[in-house]
Amino acid sequence: MSGNVSRILVVEDEPTIARAVVDRLVAEGFAVELAGDGPTAVERARTCEPHLIVLDVMLPGFDGLEVCRRVQAERPVPVLMLTARDDETDLLVGLGVGADDYVTKPFSMRELVARIRAVLRRVERPVPDAALAPLRVGPLELDPRARRVRRDGREVHLTPTEFDLLACLIRNRGMVLTRAVLLEQVWDWVDASGTRVVDSHVKALRRKLGQELIRTVHGVGYSLEIA
Ligand code: CA
Repeated sequence: MSGNVSRILVVEDEPTIARAVVDRLVAEGFAVELAGDGPTAVERARTCEPHLIVLDVMLPGFDGLEVCRRVQAERPVPVLMLTARDDETDLLVGLGVGADDYVTKPFSMRELVARIRAVLRRVERPVPDAALAPLRVGPLELDPRARRVRRDGREVHLTPTEFDLLACLIRNRGMVLTRAVLLEQVWDWVDASGTRVVDSHVKALRRKLGQELIRTVHGVGYSLEIA
């Protein structure tokens, strides 16, 4: 994938925003597809196999949450969600919808591009050979090469960020990791403004893998509790 042009699917029904985002991403050297409603977004995700989706929440047809669910059920792809307000971000984070990052409107194009590049860098970064060996911990099996996870032999579909977060928790199992450390390790962020993104992904992992695996250490962070 590296060396090639990254394909980005932009899903936004508001023409002015859609136009501005598409123009900027094309100018930044991305290959861009546009969809203006939920069903078209799911169809485009299937046909153009984007490396990342920029996804508005409120859409005709069905909303961004449903797009996210349907797309992720077919193929894990990073999703950057565009939200209307901070409290909408909080709500989505609470639901653990499986977006890799959130940008609140109004946003600057510079911020959007920076966030897109950060997610792509993370997903595409080369994994050291030592980190490619399968991990087997308690009921969990991780195959970092194929980015697949099983719990009790049953495959569980994780988003790319959920996978990276789980791998980080497993490699440091028994240790308490602060949100800031997880942000830096998993998201490559140096400022701690995005700690609720960590909470959102922990919530999603618990929902998919079972509530008991990841322990909240109140006021500190999270730890994976498997022998
Ligand atoms: Ca909209």
